[in-house]
Amino acid sequence: MSMARIKKGDKVMVIAGRDRDKAGKVKSVDLKKNRVVVEKLNMVKRHTKPGMNSGGGILEKEAPMHVSNVMLFCDKCDRAVRVGFRVLADQSKVRYCRRCNEQLDK
Ligand SMILES: [Zn+2]
Repeated sequence: MSMARIKKGDKVMVIAGRDRDKAGKVKSVDLKKNRVVVEKLNMVKRHTKPGMNSGGGILEKEAPMHVSNVMLFCDKCDRAVRVGFRVLADQSKVRYCRRCNEQLDK
């Protein structure tokens, strides 16, 4: 089974586009579409119609970004890094930072 380079809950840095060099937490991952939603990044405005409980107006929401536009952020390196995979003695597969070698999955 292949493993995702980016997972929900990861801290990532945007490396392309409008929010370049900003970091945030991954809210969701769409493996089929290769897209991620990152908290408070790639915000788009949605106009909502007045409804029962609100007067309508403009709602800001995160739009999905292509996974190639983000890199995992390593707290130890304090920067965006490339991710590697390694198999542990118990056969579990974990991600590690290719810069400092720190294991990223527990
Ligand atoms: Zn690192």
